[in-house]
Amino acid sequence: MHDYDAIVIGTGGVGSAAVMQLAVRGARVLGLDRFAGGHDRGSSHGQTRVIRRAYFEHSDYVPLVQRAFELWDELERASEQRLFQQTGLLQVGPAHGLVLPGVLRSARQHQLDVESFTADEVGRRFPGFVAAPDCAAVLETGAGFLYVERCVLAHLAEARRHGAELRSDVTVRSWRTSGDDVVVETDQGAFAAGRLVIAAGAWAGELLADLGVPLRVLRKPLHWFANDDPRYGLAQGCPVFLYECPGGVFYGFPDLDDGRGLKAADHHGGAVVDDPLAVSREVDTAEHDNVARFLAQHLPGVSHRAIGHAVCMYTMSPDEHFIVDRHPGCPQVAFAAGLSGHGFKFTSVLGEALADLALEGATTLPIGFLSVGRFGVS
Ligand SMILES: Cc1cc2nc3c(=O)[nH]c(=O)nc-3n(C[C@H](O)[C@H](O)[C@H](O)COP(=O)(O)OP(=O)(O)OC[C@H]3O[C@@H](n4cnc5c(N)ncnc54)[C@H](O)[C@@H]3O)c2cc1C
Repeated sequence: MHDYDAIVIGTGGVGSAAVMQLAVRGARVLGLDRFAGGHDRGSSHGQTRVIRRAYFEHSDYVPLVQRAFELWDELERASEQRLFQQTGLLQVGPAHGLVLPGVLRSARQHQLDVESFTADEVGRRFPGFVAAPDCAAVLETGAGFLYVERCVLAHLAEARRHGAELRSDVTVRSWRTSGDDVVVETDQGAFAAGRLVIAAGAWAGELLADLGVPLRVLRKPLHWFANDDPRYGLAQGCPVFLYECPGGVFYGFPDLDDGRGLKAADHHGGAVVDDPLAVSREVDTAEHDNVARFLAQHLPGVSHRAIGHAVCMYTMSPDEHFIVDRHPGCPQVAFAAGLSGHGFKFTSVLGEALADLALEGATTLPIGFLSVGRFGVS
């Protein structure tokens, strides 16, 4: 006998959306997390996240991100606050590199609106931005960023409004099936439900160890730089930017004019994290200098003075694509794991997919390419 129709382990990016979707459908749902909503100990913090449609990583993500945009829009209206900011996304890189061909492929396959131009034009179109002469650029006007903590908190608030029970300061130790039910063991006792959703971010490897899919957690710093150059201001039309450079893929956001400066980061690299609870949150000077060098070359008006930093974690799947599925051995368990550093924009739609998998056993959302079966797990 269970008290809940569904339990969601982890109410960060994905779990907050899942718990809301389950509650909206009338399920009696319990969301459990070790930390309070919008916290900075996992993978969903640091002010902003890029959202874009012309997906260079794999064009199969495009229908999912289209649905994610609709859901963000619905959440924005329900929560009566701005969650998405359209700024356009300027992507610069070699014409035959990783990023630009992938962007153009996705745009072609899904008739997305993107504009290509030369390195010379980058500075004319976006004063303050410099592109290497052997590069080209693509602009996706409809892209922008999400206010990451606000999104998580908005999902949780909507979940609560629809009757979800949310408990933070609860550490889940393990879960097991018991007949058709699932029992979740925590430091505050056991909870039983008909269905379980696991959305544990950097801790997914522990809770899904029996799948045998290795998930590698990486330490990823974010750096904020002082800025008084209006060319990089949100209000002045500065876009989100992503550059594929010989030294890695760097990206950043306009100065939001909130006193925090301009945020930039390196998408590649990062130290492997053995224990996500003990990740070092100190500034690493070499990592900071690497991003500062990128800015000096490509956004030379931004100051090198560091005025903030945060440490976040990527959870890498073996092929760097998400794993979203039902547990092969336990059909009452659905999970999302290994978001590989590009998952936040999708969290709204992943919540919908997980609620479908948990309650209906299947989803019409096109997530087949994200199944765990691709790793030979059955
Ligand atoms: C620096 C950085 C930049 C990024 N930039 C982008 C971007 O621009 N665009 C984009 O789309 N994506 C981006 N990402 C990726 C994106 O942010 C993540 O994929 C996404 O936020 C992961 O969400 P999650 O729900 O899996 O993890 P989290 O939000 O961390 O949620 C997991 C939750 O589970 C809880 N939990 C885990 N185990 C337990 C347990 N045993 N007991 C209780 N609670 C538990 C944790 O406390 C946590 O709250 C970025 C990530 C980082 C780190």
